Amino acid sequence: MAEIIDGKKISAQIKEEVKEEAAKLKKDGITVTLAVIQVGQDPASSVYVGNKKKACEYVGFRSLAYELPQETSQEELLNLIGDLNGRADVNGILVQLPLPGHISEEKVIQAISPDKDVDGFHVQNAGRLTVGMEGFVSCTPAGIIELLKRTGIGICGKECVVIGRSNIVGKPMAALLLRENGTVTVCHSRTKNLAEITARADILVAALGKPKFVTAKYVKEGAVVIDVGIHRGENNKLCGDVDFDSVAEKASYITPVPGGVGPMTIAMLMVNCLQSAKMGKKG
Ligand code: NAD
Repeated sequence: MAEIIDGKKISAQIKEEVKEEAAKLKKDGITVTLAVIQVGQDPASSVYVGNKKKACEYVGFRSLAYELPQETSQEELLNLIGDLNGRADVNGILVQLPLPGHISEEKVIQAISPDKDVDGFHVQNAGRLTVGMEGFVSCTPAGIIELLKRTGIGICGKECVVIGRSNIVGKPMAALLLRENGTVTVCHSRTKNLAEITARADILVAALGKPKFVTAKYVKEGAVVIDVGIHRGENNKLCGDVDFDSVAEKASYITPVPGGVGPMTIAMLMVNCLQSAKMGKKG
């Protein structure tokens, strides 16, 4: 039976570390500040935004909330981002996705100053990750690396398979595993013989967005299985991309849903905001 990787516990440790660092910055007169922008009132987005604000409060950051109406124009949103880019007291800018259909997510993401792009979605930060330069890294994959490291799971030389190639999870995940000297394969919706490839993995990351898709047949005996998916299933119960019960029988380590990768995403957002404030301090 697999050992559970406790994302709740590890994310709490990280938040404590951030809290300490934020208190030190406060003594130097710096209050780490995150601007959170939400357009419209998508209920799931409101929950995410609420959790981000709560986390800021917990670690001693200031959060500035911009709750804009659904009909906000792209120009208005870009103007707000422009203002926040110019404010020395704002360290991070986060625009909650998805945005209403009349607004281009790409234009909005690229309008955020790369120095305040604490989500790590800007093309400059994505590029920096690819070539091994310092920059903001997308929070969910960064959180997965922390989960592995803090559980004492080595990545160097391991066969790592990532299912999913999105810009916010799959691709940065592959880049990070490669940076840690893993041997990385990325699978996606056009991959042939998926189970044959995933069954080679020492570390398997499932980020395909399909509830309980990854069953025991996709997993090698003793593999480490990281479940990124979040779905609301029957009876409103949360589940991931991995069929937890069957896979836990075969894996050596597994992340649960909820309580695995999810809490790490917000913890790493706090880490990125702190990093931004420290960079600002250096000038
Ligand atoms: P996405 O829809 O943008 O990308 C899914 C990827 O999976 C695509 O690259 C696609 O090619 C691949 N894919 C789809 N079906 C496949 C199949 N049958 N076989 C192989 N590959 C397949 O999704 P995303 O934004 O990367 O998110 C993935 C999942 O992670 C979702 O469930 C999402 O809700 C969740 N998520 C969780 C967090 C968190 O904090 N825990 C953060 C982001 C996303």
